[in-house]
Amino acid sequence: MRIDRVTLTHVRIPFVEPFRVSNGTVTEKDGILVSVDADGLTGVGEASPMAGSLCSPETPEETWDDLVQRLIPAVISMHPRTLDDVCGLLEAVGGNPFARAGIETAFWDMEAQREGVPLARLLGGVRTRTESGLAVGIADTIPELLATIDRYITEGYKRVKINVRHGWDIKPLTAIRERFGEIPLMVDAECAYTCADYEHLRAFDAFGLVMIEQPLPKTDLEGHARLQSRIDTPLCLDESAEDPLTVQHAIDIGACRIVNIKIQRVGGLRNAVRIHDLCASAGVPVWAGTMPELGIGSAQTLHLATLPNFRFPTDVQSSRRWFLDDLIAPELETQDGEIALPQAAGNAYQVSRRSVEKYTVRKETLR
Ligand SMILES: [Mg+2]
Repeated sequence: MRIDRVTLTHVRIPFVEPFRVSNGTVTEKDGILVSVDADGLTGVGEASPMAGSLCSPETPEETWDDLVQRLIPAVISMHPRTLDDVCGLLEAVGGNPFARAGIETAFWDMEAQREGVPLARLLGGVRTRTESGLAVGIADTIPELLATIDRYITEGYKRVKINVRHGWDIKPLTAIRERFGEIPLMVDAECAYTCADYEHLRAFDAFGLVMIEQPLPKTDLEGHARLQSRIDTPLCLDESAEDPLTVQHAIDIGACRIVNIKIQRVGGLRNAVRIHDLCASAGVPVWAGTMPELGIGSAQTLHLATLPNFRFPTDVQSSRRWFLDDLIAPELETQDGEIALPQAAGNAYQVSRRSVEKYTVRKETLR
C-alpha cells in the first residue's frame, strides 16, 4: 500500500456529567483521531486515553508524542504491504497501547473498506447488533445513584454495572436490589481491594452478581486465583488483561472466569481478537469494555463484540449518555438495550467533520 499521509487530530468534548472513577474526576473527554490516507482510501482510528492519567498511566499528551515521534514514522518508513505488516511492526515496537490502538485500528478500518465488508465481518463477527449495559460511576449518595439508574434504565439497557470501593459497596448493592429487584447487576472494583479483603468480598455472593470486575491490583493474578477459589461469584479481569500471554496465564491458574477486553488497553484489534480466541478455547466467556472512547473507538468495540465468544452486554452506551456531542454520524443510540451496526464497509460510522472541527485542540499531518 502507498501511504500518502497520516493526520492526527486531538479533540476534547465535555462530559454530560463529571466522569468519576475510584481515584478522581474528569470533566472533558480527550481523544486523538488517527486518519490514514493510502491507496485512495481513508481509515480512521482513535487513541483514547483519559486526561490526567486517572484510568491509566498514559496521558493524551504522551500518547500524541508517541504517535508523532515514534509510531507513525515507523509505520510510514516501513512501507507496509499488508495490515498484518502494520500489526506485526506495532507489536514489535511495543509501548503505549492507546497510541498503538489508534494507528492500528485505522488500518483495520481501511482493510475492511478494501474488502468491501463491515469491520465486524473482517474480524470474524457473527452478529449485526450488540447488547448494551449501563455503567454508573460512584455517586455522592445512594438516592443519587438510584436516580441515575432510574433515569437510564428506561432505555432498556441489558444490565447495570456500578463501581464499588471500600465504604461504597454493600450499601449501594443492597439499595439497588431493594429498588430494582433481580436485574442483571455487576460491580467493577477497579483494583480497589487487597488480599486483606477476601472475607469482605465473600459477602458480595449474597447479591447474585453477574461478575465482580478486577477486585484486586492489576499484577496480583495469584490473589485473584485464591479469591476465586473462595467465592461463588465469577471474577472478571480488566486492568490485568493487558495482552494474550497474561490472559492465558490468568486462565491457567484460575484467576478469573470472565475477561473484559478493551481495544485501547490491549493495543488494538489484533490482540483483542487473539484474547477472544484464547478465551474461547479455554471456555472462558468475554465481554467488551470501554475507556469510554468517543464514537470511532466505541464503534470499533461494537464491531469487535459481534464475535461469538462475547457473551455479556458491552459497556458501549448511547453517545449522549456520556458526551455532550460525538464525532460520528449517526451517533450511537441504544434502542431496547441494543445497538444495531450499520452494514457499510469499514467502521461503517462516518466521521462528522463539523464536530471534529468544533472540538479540535490541535492537529498535525505526517508524510
Ligand atoms: Mg473496569
